[in-house]
Amino acid sequence: MKEFFSHWPEIQTKFSKKQGVLLLLDFDGTLSPIVSRPSGAVLPGKVKDELEKFATRYPAAVISGRGLKDVRRKVGIRGLAYAGSHGLVWQIGGRISRVLVTGQTAKNLAHIKKKLRHLPRVFPGVILENKDFGLAVHYRMLAAGKAAALKSFVSKEILPHMSGIRIQKGKKVVEFLPDTDWNKGKCALVLWKFFEKKTKRRLAPLYIGDDATDESAFAALKRGVTVRVGRSARSGAEYFIKDSSRPRGLIALLNKLGPDFQKQRE
Ligand SMILES: [Mg+2]
Repeated sequence: MKEFFSHWPEIQTKFSKKQGVLLLLDFDGTLSPIVSRPSGAVLPGKVKDELEKFATRYPAAVISGRGLKDVRRKVGIRGLAYAGSHGLVWQIGGRISRVLVTGQTAKNLAHIKKKLRHLPRVFPGVILENKDFGLAVHYRMLAAGKAAALKSFVSKEILPHMSGIRIQKGKKVVEFLPDTDWNKGKCALVLWKFFEKKTKRRLAPLYIGDDATDESAFAALKRGVTVRVGRSARSGAEYFIKDSSRPRGLIALLNKLGPDFQKQRE
């Protein structure tokens, strides 16, 4: 894995073969530092400024594990594309697209949601997050020593209703989602194709993410530039930046891509 900023010349060379950049960003842990309560995450003002500036020149999208509405509200920049629930639903302009799930899967998800509704009362510190399709159980604030009891509750009450459902584990969060083979990577490919067609330019995708759920995008965008927040030997990303204070600098660099790029696209 290579450090992004020290390899900037090499990255620029990759860009020079294209006519623009499609910037694809995860939200939590990437654009916004991880916080104990998911509702408390904010997009820092300076990052927002750079992103707004970027969006006046090239397409950009935020692809989050959050629900679509939630991530759209958290970022709050018009003109960006947004994807929620790890890419299961996405919005470009006024148009929302989503993957299809069977009636039985939807029924099972509803059942699981009902079963888990009382979880925060039984396990103080647990936070539930309702999404477009499923439900996330955040346990970052669960009292130490309670994890085993929570796990056994889930095994007993939830696992028998898992047909058509899969579990996705993230940083101190377990999520129940429709068991489709769709992911952030497939969503990223759809957006890439869409924006190349729309802008009539060949775009280099640049994806930044920090978590296991971003690996599908790192794998799908091998021909682009993939960046992980935090170095990890197990990641498929080609580059890394040290922490979530860095995306601002990265987007600022993209905003400085100037005349050369413009010459290319004209
Ligand atoms: Mg993340």
